[in-house]
Amino acid sequence: MNRQQNLLLSFVRGGWSANDCPSRRRPPPRRVARLSFELLTAGRELADAAGTDLHAVVISGDTEAFAEELNLEGVDRIHAVPTEVGEFNHDIYTRSLTALTDEIGAEFVVVPNSVNGLDYAPAVAMRTGRTYVSDAIDIAHDGGLEISREMCGSKVETTVDVDDGPFVISIRSSEWPPAEGRGDADLSTFDVDIDADAVRSRVKGFEEIGGGDIDIGEADFLVSIGRGIEEEENLKLVEELADVTGATLSFSRPIVDNGWLPKNRQVSQSGKQVTPNVYLAIGISGAVQHVAGMKGADTIIAVNTDPDAPIFDIADYGVVGDLFDILLVIEEFGDDPASI
Ligand SMILES: Cc1cc2nc3c(=O)[nH]c(=O)nc-3n(C[C@H](O)[C@H](O)[C@H](O)COP(=O)(O)OP(=O)(O)OC[C@H]3O[C@@H](n4cnc5c(N)ncnc54)[C@H](O)[C@@H]3O)c2cc1C
Repeated sequence: MNRQQNLLLSFVRGGWSANDCPSRRRPPPRRVARLSFELLTAGRELADAAGTDLHAVVISGDTEAFAEELNLEGVDRIHAVPTEVGEFNHDIYTRSLTALTDEIGAEFVVVPNSVNGLDYAPAVAMRTGRTYVSDAIDIAHDGGLEISREMCGSKVETTVDVDDGPFVISIRSSEWPPAEGRGDADLSTFDVDIDADAVRSRVKGFEEIGGGDIDIGEADFLVSIGRGIEEEENLKLVEELADVTGATLSFSRPIVDNGWLPKNRQVSQSGKQVTPNVYLAIGISGAVQHVAGMKGADTIIAVNTDPDAPIFDIADYGVVGDLFDILLVIEEFGDDPASI
């Protein structure tokens, strides 16, 4: 067993398109998700600070293709773990990652703070006897670790000193830039023998939910609508705007809670975090839970009648005014968001 200290990253894959995903058939994963590339940056920074190699692991699905996509600057080795199931599975991920962590003697295991990451990270930490810290937004290494996290709905930032390694850390999306530049990592296959009885859950089928074709996390230009839109009937105004500008529509929670639109369109702290080039927030106040899901956008434009709305604190551009007037003006700019 190799006992050198290594840093191991475990990845997420992107969403599935509706065409890929007829009901009850296994959808082929489309691509590696942006958070995975952010994970590479966070991992490389930590590996440099700790003086370790950076290993990455892709588990299940088209591991060769994913490994190729993740072969970016700064990655030393990529392990592909082929499995019989294509989709995420708690037991397979936990057992594969546990076996590989032990095999390479990883000091740090860094995973996404995604729904799946939060599923297997604690189990891997428990099985491998590691300290687990979730939802990191910054990591400093000074022998031990100093990990920054947000608390109380992102109102308070805390720094947690964790000296008692080795570690499993899950990182929040949009806190590190995605890695770039082709790499020359060693690629290898890591076979894990998992007893069929140990796999206690199976996906029996897939059902497309309304609007399931859209992954707002992948959109470049989001027009996001809040309670200021007042009535369901008025949503057709923003649908027209989205058509004209080529934007993808997303929403704050009250719109989804009202049942007007599906949950997969909700910008959220705990659900879908978004990082578009342009985020146009219309009639959204900027509550902490909403802002935590979209503050990674490159350019934020807010439209609100209230000049003191918190959304203006993070907006690059703001328009104080009635959205019903401004929607008509924006439509005139057509499909060039940069000109808005
Ligand atoms: C545990 C928890 C988790 C949560 N998670 C999420 C989450 O993930 N995502 C999320 O979005 N929310 C979440 N929330 C809810 C969040 O706290 C806010 O209530 C919500 O984001 C507010 O949505 P809003 O900005 O659309 O509505 P409001 O806060 O009601 O704001 C409406 C805004 O529209 C403006 N306005 C009104 N009329 C007009 C007009 N004609 N023209 C222009 N502007 C106008 C108003 O000035 C106001 O600022 C969560 C809450 C809790 C407690």
